Amino acid sequence: MMKIAIMGAMIEEVEPFLNLGEHEPLLKYFKKHNDVNYGGNLYHEAKYKGLDIVLGYSKIGKVNAALTAATMIEKFGAEQLLFTGVAGAVNPSLKIGDLIAATQLCQHDLDITAFGHPHGYVPEGKVYVEPSRELLRIAKSVADEKEIALKGGVIATGDQFIADPERKKWIETTFDADAIEMEGAAVAVVCDQLNIPFFVLRAISDTADTDATFDFDEFLKHSSQVSSSFVLAMLDKIADGQDQ
Ligand code: SAH
Repeated sequence: MMKIAIMGAMIEEVEPFLNLGEHEPLLKYFKKHNDVNYGGNLYHEAKYKGLDIVLGYSKIGKVNAALTAATMIEKFGAEQLLFTGVAGAVNPSLKIGDLIAATQLCQHDLDITAFGHPHGYVPEGKVYVEPSRELLRIAKSVADEKEIALKGGVIATGDQFIADPERKKWIETTFDADAIEMEGAAVAVVCDQLNIPFFVLRAISDTADTDATFDFDEFLKHSSQVSSSFVLAMLDKIADGQDQ
């Protein structure tokens, strides 16, 4: 049985799967059988349509995200990882609530340019890490079937909440970024190094250039629900494929 990790950064991002939110929990179809506390995080193990699931949130930022991704893979045996959450829009065509699937991820705050290297690069690494083509294909077919506009694009990750037009512009021009968040590239590096197919989905929560408190909290819940529902539809597809 294939084991799939479902990961968010904040509790709100995985709440739609749990029995906590105001919406109907997506997890009601999951057969929940075990909760495990490990390394400061709570992991939920469950079964869904012939898939083994490990579900949890990492807490915000690259270090926390790397720990959780590695734990889901090394301790819980996840064979694929789907990240769900929210991001700030860089590409002006992305509006609040829109979905973006990363086709490339980079770290905008990784900087050893003093040694002549490009931004986002360290020796033996790469500036852009790419998610699984197969999972991107599954995402596209879910989007087509449900007539959801799913954009693909570059997601830039760093340990900063971006709420400043100048920094946003710099990240856009330096990395050709479409969206900004704080965990995706960390998860990407871990999965890439451990040969685990992964996928990063984000629903837009803000435009990365205004006062954070202005719109963020308001749209966090709705956008988390949008992203989680899409990931659940992907699980349905993955489970169907497994039957064949
Ligand atoms: N409201 C939270 C803090 C949220 S930090 C609190 O007060 O505790 C922002 C989170 O959403 C991160 O997990 C990041 O991945 C994502 N995110 C959304 N918009 C972002 C932006 N403009 N810049 C960086 N990260 C963003």
